[in-house]
Amino acid sequence: MEKRGSAVTLQKQHFYNDKHPDLSPLPFIPLSDMDDIALADFLPQVIEQACNAIVVVDSDDRIVFFNAAAEQLWGRNRDTVLGADISRLMPPLQDGPQSRLPGQSEIDHLVGHNVELPIERPNNTRIWAEISVSRVQACEQTMRLVVARNITIAKVHKTLRYQVLKAMAETESLLEVMNLLCQEIKRIAPEISATIMRIDASGHLHSLAAPDFPPEYGHQIDGAETDQNVSCTMAAFRGEPVLIRDIENDPSWGNTRQQVLALGYKACWSVPVKTREGRVMGALAFYYRVCRRPNKLHVQLAEIGVYLCALAMERAEARARIHHLAFFDDLTDLPNRSLLHVQANQAIAQASRENEQLAVLFIDIDRFKQVNDSLGHPAGDTLLRIVASRLREAIREVDILGRYSGDEFVIVLTQCDSVRATDLAGRLLAVLSAPCRIGEITLNPAASIGISLFPDNGRDMNTLIHQADMAMYQAKHKGSGCFSFFSGQLNQIAKERLTLETALREALFGNQLQVYYQPQINIETHQLHGVEALVRWSHAHFGQISPSRFIPLAEECGLINVLSQWVLNEACRQLAHWRQQGLVVPSVSVNLSPTDFHNLKLPHHIESVLKAHDLKPRDLLVEITEGVLMDSNPSTMKTLNEIHALGVRLSIDDFGTGYSSLGYLRHLPVHELKLDQSFVRDLDHDRATRALTNAVMHIGDSMDLTVIAEGVEHPTQRNLLKAQGYQIVQGLLFSPPLPATDLERWLDENLSFTQWK
Ligand code: C2E
Ligand code: MG
Ligand code: MG
Repeated sequence: MEKRGSAVTLQKQHFYNDKHPDLSPLPFIPLSDMDDIALADFLPQVIEQACNAIVVVDSDDRIVFFNAAAEQLWGRNRDTVLGADISRLMPPLQDGPQSRLPGQSEIDHLVGHNVELPIERPNNTRIWAEISVSRVQACEQTMRLVVARNITIAKVHKTLRYQVLKAMAETESLLEVMNLLCQEIKRIAPEISATIMRIDASGHLHSLAAPDFPPEYGHQIDGAETDQNVSCTMAAFRGEPVLIRDIENDPSWGNTRQQVLALGYKACWSVPVKTREGRVMGALAFYYRVCRRPNKLHVQLAEIGVYLCALAMERAEARARIHHLAFFDDLTDLPNRSLLHVQANQAIAQASRENEQLAVLFIDIDRFKQVNDSLGHPAGDTLLRIVASRLREAIREVDILGRYSGDEFVIVLTQCDSVRATDLAGRLLAVLSAPCRIGEITLNPAASIGISLFPDNGRDMNTLIHQADMAMYQAKHKGSGCFSFFSGQLNQIAKERLTLETALREALFGNQLQVYYQPQINIETHQLHGVEALVRWSHAHFGQISPSRFIPLAEECGLINVLSQWVLNEACRQLAHWRQQGLVVPSVSVNLSPTDFHNLKLPHHIESVLKAHDLKPRDLLVEITEGVLMDSNPSTMKTLNEIHALGVRLSIDDFGTGYSSLGYLRHLPVHELKLDQSFVRDLDHDRATRALTNAVMHIGDSMDLTVIAEGVEHPTQRNLLKAQGYQIVQGLLFSPPLPATDLERWLDENLSFTQWK
C-alpha cells in the first residue's frame, strides 16, 4: 500500500473494521476526484466538526488529536490535553472486556471493543460515555483512534430501571425498593440526597425512604396532612414540581426548616409521583447542600425516578388490594374468618404469655333469614353493614372483630374476664337492638350471643369459637336478644346432640323408623273419622326416643324434609294397603314441619305419592301448626296454596297455642282445627278453659271447619267436650298411637262398641 503524507495516507487507506477484520471494509468517501492537497485541508475540518468526540493517540499513548466534540464531552480544552497521556481522560477499567495481556496498556486493551465508562469532568460532574477504540496506521506508526459519545441519559435510565425493577422482582417491600432508588440516584449524582414520600387515601404523608436523613426526620413528617405546610414536598402534592432554592429564607418552607438546615441542606426540589390516571401518590424530593436549581441530569433522574416510584407504589397498592380481598370481608370491611383466626391466635398466645384471660363472643343476628327472604338480599346486606359498624363502635381498639360467616360475627375481647364479658354482651345487645331504617322499613334488629373464656373453656381459637357457638345456640333457645356462657354441661348436651344426630341419620337412611297410627273417633256416630300418623324411633341403645325430641333435631340438622317425605309415603302406602284389605279408614293425617313448606317441590311430591298409591287427595290431611302461618318465608304461602289446590286438606294442629291472630283463618284454605291437648287437660277443673274450648267450637262451627279434640284421657273430658258439641276426639281414652297391625286388630275389636257414647 502506498505510503504518503499522514493525512493522505489516512484517507486513501481504508478504515479497517477492527471488530470484524475479515468482513468488508467500512464505507469510505470516494476521493478519486480530489487531489491530495484538497484532501489534506478537508479531512481535519470534517473530523473537527464531527458530533462524536474523536481523539487520536500515538504509539506512546499521548494524545495527538482532540476535536471540538471531545472538548465538550470531557469538559477540557484541547490545549490542556494534547501531548498528555490518554490515561488522564480514561478511568482505570474496573472490569475490562477481557483480561489484559502482560505489558498491554489500558488503551490497547480496549481496541476493538465498545465500552461504557464514567467520565469525571473538572467541574465535579460525572457523565457516562460509550467509547470505541480502533488501531490505525498513520505517520509510519500505529495510532489509536478513540471515538466517544455521551450516553449519560440512556445509561441513567438503563441503570435505574434495571436496579429498581430487579429489586421489585426480588423483594416485596416497598420501603426496600424506594431506599434502593434513592441510593442509586446518589450513585449517579452524588450531590443529591433523595427522599420519597407516600400519601395515603386520607391525605396523610408517610416517609418511605430518606437514606441520608436520620429516622427522626421521617417520624416528624409521618402522618402530617397534605394541606399542612410541612415541607416543600407538600407543594408536590398539589401536582406540580416545586423548587425551594433557599430553604433558609423561603417563607413557604414549614416547620422542619431548622432540622433540614442543621443537616446541611440548603435547597430542595420535589416532584410529584402520579398514577397513570394522574392521581398523586407521593413525591420524590432532591435535597442539595448548596442553594441551586436542578441541572439537566437531575431532571432526567427525577423523570425516571418518579416513573419508577409510581410503578413500585402502584404495585404495592395492588398487592395491598389483593391482601385486602383475601383477608377482609367485602361487604362489611371486617377481617374475614382467616384473618380473624390469625389475629385471635396471636391474642391467645399473648394472653397465655401474660397470664391473662380473654373472651370470645359469637354473635348471630336473630331472624336474619326472614329479613333476607321478605325484604330481599340488598336489605339483608344493609342490615349486616349496620350490625358490623355498631359492633365496631362498641369495642375497644385492642379487641378483635371479624365476620365469621353469613350473619355471624365474632369478637375477641383481650384482657377480659366473665364480668367484663357479661357487661359488654349486655351492652352489645342493647346497641344492636336500636331501630334502624332499611329503605322504607324500620327494623328492630336483635342478636344472640354465646361466650367462651380463655383459658377456662379452651386454649385455642377453634375450641373457643366452637364453644361460643354452642353457647350462642343455648342463648337462642332462651329467646331473642339473649346471651349465654359456655358451660361443661352445654358441652355434654352438644355431644349428646351430635351422637343423636348421627343415630337419627342412620335410622332414617337405614329404615329404622316406624309410623304409628292413632284413631280419631266420631263420638256421635261411633265411626272412625280418620287416623293420625305419628313417627316412632326405637333405638337399640337409647330405647324409645320421643318425636318431641328428634323432630326438632331433624329440623336443626336439615333432615326434616327427608323424614317428612318418608312418613308421608309410608302413611299413604299403609292407607292404600288397608283399603286393599277392605278396611274402612276414611283418611290419614300427616304432620309436617314449618321448614317442609319452604320446599317448593312439596306439592309435587305429595301429588306423586298419592298417585303412586292410587289415593285421592281427599284421603290425606296435612297437619300444620300456627308456627307455619307465622313463617314469613315467601315459599310457605305458595306451597300451602298449591297443596290446597291439589285437593289435600289442611288441619291446624295444637290450635290455640300459637299466639297468632285468628285473622289467617279468613284467608287460608283450612279444613280442620285440632284443639290443643293442654285445653283438654284443664277442662274439668278450669272454667276459663271451658270457655275457651267452647269458643273454639263456635269458631269451627261458624266457619264450617271440623274441630277435633286431642289428648282425651278421661270420660269426664269426653263428656264435657261432647256437651260443647265436639264430635271428633282423639286420645288415650280410646287408643294410643299403634303400629299398623295393632290398629287393625283394635278397629276389629272396638269399632261398633257403644262404650264411646
Ligand atoms: P301432635 O301432632 O300434636 O301429636 C299428638 C301427640 O299427642 C302425640 O305425641 C301423641 O302420641 C300424643 N297423644 C295422643 N293421645 C294423647 C293423650 O291422650 N294424652 C297425651 N298426653 N298425649 C297424647 P307424639 O307422638 O309423642 O308426638 C309429639 C309431636 O311430635 C306431635 O304432636 C307432632 O307435633 C310431632 N310429630 C309426631 N310425628 C311427626 C311426624 O311424622 N312429623 C312431624 N313433622 N312431626 C311429628
Ligand atoms: Mg298432629
Ligand atoms: Mg297436636
